[in-house]
Amino acid sequence: MSESKDFLRTIVEEDLQSGKYQEIITRFPPEPNGFPHIGHAKSICINFGIARDYHGHCNLRMDDTNPTTEDMKYVEALKDAVTWLGFSWADHVRFASDYFPKIYDYAVTLVKMGKAYVDSLNEEEIREYRGTIKEAGRRSPFAERSIEENLDLLDRMRKGEFKDGEHVLRAKIDMSAANMKMRDPLLYRIRHAHHFRTGDEWCIYPMYDFAHCLSDYIEGVTHSICTLEFENNRDIYDWVLDALDLTPPRPYQHEFARLGMNYTVMSKRKLLELVNGNYVNGWDDPRLPTIAGYKRRGYTPEAILNFCDQIGIAKANSMVDVAQLEFCIRDDLNQKVPRVMCVLDPLKVTIENYDGEEAIDASYYPHDVPKEGSRKLPFAREIYIERDDFMENPPADYYRLTPKQSVRLKHAYILTCKEVIKDTHGNIVELKAEYHPHSKSGEDTSGIKTKSAIHWVSAKHAKQAEVRLYERLYSNEAPDGLEDLNPDSLHVITNAFVEPAVITEKPDVRFQFERQGYFFVDPIDYTDAKPVFNKIVGLKDSWAK
Ligand code: ATP
Ligand code: MG
Ligand code: MG
Repeated sequence: MSESKDFLRTIVEEDLQSGKYQEIITRFPPEPNGFPHIGHAKSICINFGIARDYHGHCNLRMDDTNPTTEDMKYVEALKDAVTWLGFSWADHVRFASDYFPKIYDYAVTLVKMGKAYVDSLNEEEIREYRGTIKEAGRRSPFAERSIEENLDLLDRMRKGEFKDGEHVLRAKIDMSAANMKMRDPLLYRIRHAHHFRTGDEWCIYPMYDFAHCLSDYIEGVTHSICTLEFENNRDIYDWVLDALDLTPPRPYQHEFARLGMNYTVMSKRKLLELVNGNYVNGWDDPRLPTIAGYKRRGYTPEAILNFCDQIGIAKANSMVDVAQLEFCIRDDLNQKVPRVMCVLDPLKVTIENYDGEEAIDASYYPHDVPKEGSRKLPFAREIYIERDDFMENPPADYYRLTPKQSVRLKHAYILTCKEVIKDTHGNIVELKAEYHPHSKSGEDTSGIKTKSAIHWVSAKHAKQAEVRLYERLYSNEAPDGLEDLNPDSLHVITNAFVEPAVITEKPDVRFQFERQGYFFVDPIDYTDAKPVFNKIVGLKDSWAK
């Protein structure tokens, strides 16, 4: 359970203590019209988390009342996300579309009670009649229809006798209500469209405000938790359930603040635009804030849960720094993953006074990580170091290898540069060097001082790899559209060299490449013959604000 109790858990506890409910039932109600993102993760943590903490259950409910945008592939993605985050819906998968017959019956009941009517104004007229915040609306002349006429029209709407937009069903509430949403809200609209589950069975579909509260009631949900922008819809939620005079207990809606994160878009419409326009490589592109993207990038569910816990549940909207999420990932991986060496931009070094080869015993974990394990690190005459770990004419604060400055090879020996080999254009292509035989890590008696240690791999033993480096997808802190995309968000390196144990021993699927960051074996493209690694996150917050 979260360390401090949030306002939702306070409400839940009060409702249990007062006996209002015997068992807590929540629901996570996504519309299957896109892949779930980090905002959904927050909602999943809240709804499944509360159900778990109070020994109730949480329904995974597809809010599939909008036939034109929904698809089974999104249902699968939602299930994947919930499972990956470590929650279980057990046998509680629900579809709002399964309730279409019941919801329709409730509509008929409202009409019979004189509390709903078929309106034949067009969309524009409906808007005009609704009035403004300052001005009361006017009721449609069609609101005077008799109950019999309304029942007949509703029946014929359902049978498909009318075209889209010809009629709607509206609740008869109050055309001068201060809450504009209460000015006779729409309950049903005609939509001749194929639904991915109910096919062509229906040509009228319930509106969110009608379907959601009733789905909650039908499922015995106790706490219907949603985001703040639904605050004004709460009056309709209550009106519908009260107007139908339903057998208690009934659910109540509670709102929390939606998660917003800088450098990130979460609107499914915008994510869909990125995917369909091939601005990213599918819904699981590691640059996306989708759960599938995070999963492919190598984020851990633990880190995401921890992040959701840290940001807490608030009643007012605010913006979270994406660096906080990155911090959580780094913090989690730091405690878990093996440290290995990978050279991203290789520069060949020939160690002229070294012959043969040896295998150095090197621990996978630093002293402050409570895990055991080591590998044999091959050392030989030819190695690769990182190109920018050598400078011919360095500035004063450069601590790595130069013609005058020796450097330590991590886990191995001290190296001194003897000669710089260049091509005809003056580019450095190789270094000739010497190692110091008595300088081996852990048994160094050479007396030579170095200012830093660099990573390296044995050229003969290393495996060539592809490494995908990701930067933020947007260069604007508050991204709006495609114009804010960062043109350099993906950088593919095809000529990296990784030490062999990563591939032959596979101590893990996530690694810290020393001095480079955390990396993940790409779950789709990786093979031992052609290894592919995704950069999960850098070692420290290097993002310049
Ligand atoms: P979008 O506007 O991106 O389509 P949505 O809210 O319509 O998002 P749904 O699939 O309807 O998406 O959302 C399912 C659940 O997840 C809802 O209960 C919603 O409140 C919650 N949710 C969606 N986005 C966020 C977010 N950014 N922060 C917290 N909860 C969210
Ligand atoms: Mg929604
Ligand atoms: Mg939406």
